[in-house]
Amino acid sequence: MSLRPLYARPRTLAEAAAVLSEIKSGAVVVAGGQDIMPHINYGRLMPAVVVDVGTISELRGIASDGDGLAIGALTTHRELRSHASVVRHAPLLAAGAGEIGGGWQVHNRGTIGGNIAALHPLYDIVPALLALGAEAEVHDDQGTHRMPVDKIVSNTGLGLGTRSVLARLHLRASPPGGGWGYRKLKATAGAYGSANAAAVVTLNKGEISSLRVVIGGASALPVDASAVAARAVGQRWSDRLGDEIETACRELIKQPLSDQQGEGSWRRAMAGVMARRAVQDAIARVAA
Ligand SMILES: Cc1cc2nc3c(=O)[nH]c(=O)nc-3n(C[C@H](O)[C@H](O)[C@H](O)COP(=O)(O)OP(=O)(O)OC[C@H]3O[C@@H](n4cnc5c(N)ncnc54)[C@H](O)[C@@H]3O)c2cc1C
Repeated sequence: MSLRPLYARPRTLAEAAAVLSEIKSGAVVVAGGQDIMPHINYGRLMPAVVVDVGTISELRGIASDGDGLAIGALTTHRELRSHASVVRHAPLLAAGAGEIGGGWQVHNRGTIGGNIAALHPLYDIVPALLALGAEAEVHDDQGTHRMPVDKIVSNTGLGLGTRSVLARLHLRASPPGGGWGYRKLKATAGAYGSANAAAVVTLNKGEISSLRVVIGGASALPVDASAVAARAVGQRWSDRLGDEIETACRELIKQPLSDQQGEGSWRRAMAGVMARRAVQDAIARVAA
């Protein structure tokens, strides 16, 4: 019996959903292959069928969507970091994509859909999307379902990449006068982060009127620190406020990761530092 997987290349989203539904188990979606192909090549994953969604045109493109953007799941990291609409309306997302390591191959082939569906704790896109309050369109044999990105991250039962396909992301444009910050602590330019943080802020006469902060890279799932960061509303930036944000964010990391990117207690401390710096950058960008 051959151990080689069968190969399917659906041409439409409906065809992809039908193929996944028909196969029931043992199918995996492949987009850019930058995450999943090493697992297959090294024999860590042995799918029965590889479902290549890379030619489905419905998954491509970046378009205006009311007051925001709709971004196809096949959009590559290179497109994200350089597309004029993303840079203008969602600069935090462009910055997050720009921080992805691995070099040109990963940037040219890796997609936003694959980055999200991989649910990898060290990846850069999800914290930015959570801070931006993005929504996702997920397609399966029952049709299209739209949901906040945090529902995807917390619900592996969606079967993303095995029973369903992530089709598109929707995000509102950053408000005029809003600021953003993205910080990633990494050992080398091309490395995964030890801790990262995405922040989005609005100011009213120099005082914080809204603040969202999401921490990634330090724990198994991204941590939305927006509720504790909201204590900063009504205040101006100061070192004391920075200390408070740093401490509050650090304390939210209850079970820090310990791996090649660093030991847990240090990762927890660095999560606080990255959050503080991301907020400070965001405020500086409003003022700029
Ligand atoms: C050397 C190296 C360094 C890297 N450094 C970083 C880094 O610093 N930061 C970072 O964020 N990432 C990093 N990555 C990861 C890279 O960004 C992701 O691998 C890439 O975004 C994955 O996209 P892909 O299209 O290649 O996904 P694939 O490998 O094709 O798929 C990944 C997973 O997503 C599923 N999937 C893909 N598309 C869809 C879809 N549309 N719907 C449902 N499921 C789908 C697949 O089934 C699979 O489980 C690195 C990768 C490499 C090889």
